[in-house]
Amino acid sequence: MADKTPKTAKDSLQRFLFEHAPVRGEIVQLEATWKAVLERRDYPSPLRELLGEMMSAAALLSATLKFSGRLVMQMQGDGPVTLAVVECSHDLIMRATASWEGELKAGTLRQLLGNGRFAITIEPEKGQTYQGIVELEGHGVAEALERYMARSEQLETRLWLAADKGFSAGMLLQRLPEGHGTDGDAWERAVHLASTLTRKELLALPARKIIHRLFHEEDLRLFEPQPVYFFCPCSRERVAAALRLVGREELTQLLEERGLIEVDCEFCNRNYAFDRGDLAQVFATENPAAATRH
Ligand SMILES: [Zn+2]
Repeated sequence: MADKTPKTAKDSLQRFLFEHAPVRGEIVQLEATWKAVLERRDYPSPLRELLGEMMSAAALLSATLKFSGRLVMQMQGDGPVTLAVVECSHDLIMRATASWEGELKAGTLRQLLGNGRFAITIEPEKGQTYQGIVELEGHGVAEALERYMARSEQLETRLWLAADKGFSAGMLLQRLPEGHGTDGDAWERAVHLASTLTRKELLALPARKIIHRLFHEEDLRLFEPQPVYFFCPCSRERVAAALRLVGREELTQLLEERGLIEVDCEFCNRNYAFDRGDLAQVFATENPAAATRH
């Protein structure tokens, strides 16, 4: 296999396929996208690790789906981590946020979230929303998702995820249905080779180097890397639509108490302020079809 691109290409997703075996893979590495999430809130390190692993996992899973829309990976709980949410669109535009209470110690998903819920929602631009519930079992995000994929998609999937202050990265291997080649041992061999990858290598080596280091004896097809970006689509219009749902009466009262109604976007920290005149306008242009999210 040729390895002609020693140049680091961070913030991209690299797909690959075994030519003669039913195995496909992806590597995602995030730098600027991940920093855009981290610079908005000072996350304690166990939560930073959890959210970073969710970021890469969401990009990897979203790239395995043939859809137009967005994938939302969300954990909620009554433990020290109260919320962790990552959104990834089909064209790999991402945003993420999390909240917590008190001191955080490293632990399993259950220890971090307590009585929690881990849901994956697929919201296609057209058609029905689908939601799957991931059991909060195993040590971390990768293990919980592997079990979920085996149950729900009936596809054997292995994930390696890592995150630190500078990078979030992940690798996925998936066993395709039969008919994609005749090399029967390829799956076991691929998983065995992939398991030799260290956390440090996953975070630091360029994706093509990782692929070369692991699978240089295999016949692989590499696809063009796809860029990944951070972008928050919040807007004043969407906040206004959310305010309409709260109702004029409640907002008028709030305005009297505070003089200004302020809404901060939980994903990008952008601040939206509405005074008396703004509020009158919000309700003057009432539109029941407006979006409910901001
Ligand atoms: Zn925003």
